[in-house]
Amino acid sequence: MRVSRSLTIKQMATVSGVAVVTISVFIVIQLFHFVQQRRIDYAQQMENVAHTVRQPLSQAVLKADIGQAERILNSLKPAGILARADVVLPGGLQALHADFAPTKPVPKLIAKIFELPVQITVPLYSVEPSNPKPLALLVLQADSWRVYQFILSALSTMVTTYLLLALILSVAISWCINRLIVRPLRRIAVELRDLPPQETIAHQLKLPDRHRDDELGMMIRSYNHNQQIIETVHDEMSRLTTRFALTNLPNQTLFLALLEQHLNAVAEKDIFTLLVLRIETLQEANGVVTDEQRDVLALALLDKIRNCIDSQTVIGQLSDSDFVLLMKRASTPERAMRMARLLQIRLTQAVALQQMQVRPTISIGMAAREDSHLNAQDLLNRAASAMMSARLEGKNQILFFNPLMTERAHRRLTQEHDILQGLSDGQFALFLQPQIDMRSGQPVGAEALLRMRQPDGSWSLPEDLIVNAEESGVITALGRWVFEEACRVLADWQKRGITLPLSVNISAVQLREADRVAHLRELIQQYQIKPGSLMLEITETAQPGEPELVLRLLNDLQQAGVSVALDDFGMGYANLNWLSQFKSLPVSKLKMDRSFVCILPEDDTMVRIVAAIADIIKLDVIAEGVETCDQRDWLLARGIQIGQGYLYSEALPVAQFEQRYF
Ligand code: C2E
Ligand code: CA
Ligand code: CA
Repeated sequence: MRVSRSLTIKQMATVSGVAVVTISVFIVIQLFHFVQQRRIDYAQQMENVAHTVRQPLSQAVLKADIGQAERILNSLKPAGILARADVVLPGGLQALHADFAPTKPVPKLIAKIFELPVQITVPLYSVEPSNPKPLALLVLQADSWRVYQFILSALSTMVTTYLLLALILSVAISWCINRLIVRPLRRIAVELRDLPPQETIAHQLKLPDRHRDDELGMMIRSYNHNQQIIETVHDEMSRLTTRFALTNLPNQTLFLALLEQHLNAVAEKDIFTLLVLRIETLQEANGVVTDEQRDVLALALLDKIRNCIDSQTVIGQLSDSDFVLLMKRASTPERAMRMARLLQIRLTQAVALQQMQVRPTISIGMAAREDSHLNAQDLLNRAASAMMSARLEGKNQILFFNPLMTERAHRRLTQEHDILQGLSDGQFALFLQPQIDMRSGQPVGAEALLRMRQPDGSWSLPEDLIVNAEESGVITALGRWVFEEACRVLADWQKRGITLPLSVNISAVQLREADRVAHLRELIQQYQIKPGSLMLEITETAQPGEPELVLRLLNDLQQAGVSVALDDFGMGYANLNWLSQFKSLPVSKLKMDRSFVCILPEDDTMVRIVAAIADIIKLDVIAEGVETCDQRDWLLARGIQIGQGYLYSEALPVAQFEQRYF
């Protein structure tokens, strides 16, 4: 970048232009003034001369002495300024004339502008005062050449002087401007021009001492201030948008911003898990792989991570070897642990790296958002510290920040494994609990309850097994086994002519399985189960709150020959809207929840309400958890005839049940 017209030149041109115009105006005014002064001087001098000759000349004219008059006129000759003298008679007639020197011609224009030649007219009177009329007029004319020469010399003096002055002034002004403005500006321009691109953003101009208080100082201060603003904005932008160059993953800052955003978007009670993953093999000082190999390995492992996660999971990178996953769907320790184990299995498989097999080792730390007070940084710190603890435990370890969670996840995942294992190993059994007509004590049905063989050889149902199976999804396999087993028992009974109906529990998750009804229909056909003898116990709390969907499902079940009982009735449908649909529901029984029965006869409110509802919609009620004769009597007195509970029998193994009741 070069300057094509310097400020100095522009300023000089302006100053010179203004100077020329002003000087010209000055000179013209002053010239007129001086010339006028000179004309007055000449007129004055000529007047004095005229007065000295007036008297004798008047007398000579009066006497008509021409010779005398001519002599007098010629005597004026030595008065150097005169060019000519005339005596004119009143009629305008020229009487006498004297030319003193041959005058040089003056340019016509000059003569016109300055009204040359200068001349005066003096009247000549007779000496007698009685005659006031002039005898003749004496006309004197100054030498115009002299005036012209004066004009020339005045003009040249003035032009020279003023031009000199203008020159001095414009040089002085130029010097000042050059020192004060042009030079500092040029220095700044050069500094800015030669600035390396990487320094442009943080660049600050130095404030020259002499310019602290002037406009230049103001400009530099403004520039520096703007630079600071740009720098902060730039910092902010780069802070928010930086990604790792190799993987293009969000870095810690960007990831924290995304995490914070997620925290703000989800409800306070929403749980999700943050997972920090260190791939030890990618550690810089590790020495196992070269830089180049590390890059290849990092990309290969990142690919594997991407293949493990769902679309809701956000990946970030904390360092060359540390990755972080925001697992939005990992709302329980088991889910998070399942994901961590999947990552562990995939990432620790051998990777081929240029004739070399590398088996990466990893450490995983996780933190769940259990508490709504945790912010993004807290969560990340927790997950990272869990990862560090996992490292200390040894190779390929997975830990939660909260040790209880690690424990729970392990327990649950073990249980999940045990369930699947147990199904194939025959560790499950259906126990039957009779449903008794409390008037006669005869069984009118049976409920199949799942039992699992315990290490000590006893059979029971671990408290969290169903919930856990639902969460992990093994409930599908478990449910299928239960139905098949129930159908097998029923088919066996029916072959032996026993018509007792059998109830089976179905969980909320199972209800949502797409092919649930189809599977049941298949089983019923396969085992030739009589319509209505298989009953499903649906927990009312399990209703997903979509009446149309539930209605369709229940209709499908009815069509398939399965009847339905609402389990734990009174606990869930506190919804009158739902209650109003009961009439049209294809449901044949209500099971009154155990919690209402066990407080009888002290508190009978709920039992009476449930009995009233059942009465209105004409459904049979089965009272669950009947343990005492008092309870039985009270229920019978209120018209509730079927009861199930320890008063009659707990759930029994099938053989024992058959032995006792058939
Ligand atoms: P539920 O359907 O309410 O089953 C009744 C539970 O009450 C059973 O517990 C039973 O042993 C217990 N019980 C029966 N009579 C009495 C009594 O007089 N007093 C007391 N205190 N309890 C009594 P269990 O077998 O532990 O089953 C618990 C829950 O597990 C069941 O509650 C049911 O919701 C679920 N469940 C059991 N088997 C299955 C199954 O095969 N599939 C599904 N999806 N869920 C099942
Ligand atoms: Ca039940
Ligand atoms: Ca129940």
